[in-house]
Amino acid sequence: MSKTILILGAGTGGIITAKELSKKVGGNAKILVFEKEEKNVFAPSLLWLMVGKRKPKQVYRNTRKIAGAGVEVVIGEIEKVNPEQISVTIKGQEYKGDYMVISLGVEQITEHNLNSYGHDFYTLDGATKFNEQLQSFKGGKIAVLVSALPFKCPAAPYEAAMLVESFIKQKGLANKTEVSLYVPEPGPMGVAGKELSGAVRQMVEMKGVKYFPEHQVSTATENTLSFSNGKTFDYDLLTFTPKHQCPSVIRETAFVGKSGWIEVNRNTMETDFPNVYAIGDITFIPLEMGKPLPKAGVFAHYQAETVADNIAQKIAGKTPDKTFNGEGQCFLEMGNGKAGYAGGNFYGSPLPIVNMKKPSFFWHWTKVWFEKYWFYKYF
Ligand SMILES: Cc1cc2nc3c(=O)[nH]c(=O)nc-3n(C[C@H](O)[C@H](O)[C@H](O)COP(=O)(O)OP(=O)(O)OC[C@H]3O[C@@H](n4cnc5c(N)ncnc54)[C@H](O)[C@@H]3O)c2cc1C
Repeated sequence: MSKTILILGAGTGGIITAKELSKKVGGNAKILVFEKEEKNVFAPSLLWLMVGKRKPKQVYRNTRKIAGAGVEVVIGEIEKVNPEQISVTIKGQEYKGDYMVISLGVEQITEHNLNSYGHDFYTLDGATKFNEQLQSFKGGKIAVLVSALPFKCPAAPYEAAMLVESFIKQKGLANKTEVSLYVPEPGPMGVAGKELSGAVRQMVEMKGVKYFPEHQVSTATENTLSFSNGKTFDYDLLTFTPKHQCPSVIRETAFVGKSGWIEVNRNTMETDFPNVYAIGDITFIPLEMGKPLPKAGVFAHYQAETVADNIAQKIAGKTPDKTFNGEGQCFLEMGNGKAGYAGGNFYGSPLPIVNMKKPSFFWHWTKVWFEKYWFYKYF
């Protein structure tokens, strides 16, 4: 009998899972993708949007376009997930499956009333509004703030600060503007090792950004940020990352471990429930060095390929043999058409083995090419 696969979330992980399964079992299985948003945003492009390098319409496509070859899209908010029954409920209707892949990402919330004083750069709406403010900015103090840990894409706030700094220079406002980056973490991209972290910090500071690590915001007012270390800073323009938490539909279920996220087998991404998998930002994967695997699209992507392959093997009556081994890469936009590139094995023992390539125009254009490829291939 034909099998049904439920895919929860049509972000990076959900799209790749659906497309890979479509290639492997499309004719013989029903692949149902559940997603609440009609606008499917390619998150890396939000950084270009916030500095006016993209228009809002250029960074998303209609979610329904991922349908085809065995893949059906159901738009609506998932209200309930039942791992024992392998079922989801959406708009009051229950859908049952033989396999389930949860790729619901993170839920983003704003604390300290930050959205009354500035705009986040992690959503379509926030990045659009911040860009509107930036375009009419006449000079002063700009604060780029990471409001809480963990946050997805360890590089993104560093890229944001460098892109804003480049924008300011191009506008001729550098002599009357200060760009500051406040983060709770001790240094950039710490999981990737001290050397790489130091190199990224140097890149950011060489651009002219003032960097304030170990600054956890505790309160905010219209022009002032206060931090738990007792320091306060004034600002004229604010952009920030929202707080990330496990999506509410999953938060109270048996999936969630002590970490507050779904804990999985780090190689197969299977949960404690047979034939139920979780991938991407919603998972918590502890590394040997004591920190979790960062939340990044590249991992969601490779994990999705692993899970899709293994489900296809199971459907074919074979033993699943594909594993996710912690490989990952990322680009680091610096502004002025240049980007850096870091990649390696995050499951490295005892430490991740991650190397960085010299920033160049090539890596920037590779990132632009990937954006075009993403929209062309999946929509
Ligand atoms: C500004 C920015 C830049 C980034 N740059 C990079 C980069 O260069 N490289 C990189 O690797 N990563 C990058 N990332 C991170 C990357 O976007 C995420 O790590 C990745 O999207 C995670 O994939 P996912 O499938 O786990 O979650 P998501 O892609 O977030 O998808 C989750 C989906 O689930 C849906 N959903 C949630 N709850 C429900 C519900 N109850 N009902 C229905 N649908 C629901 C959401 O609407 C969403 O579409 C960036 C992120 C940001 C914000």
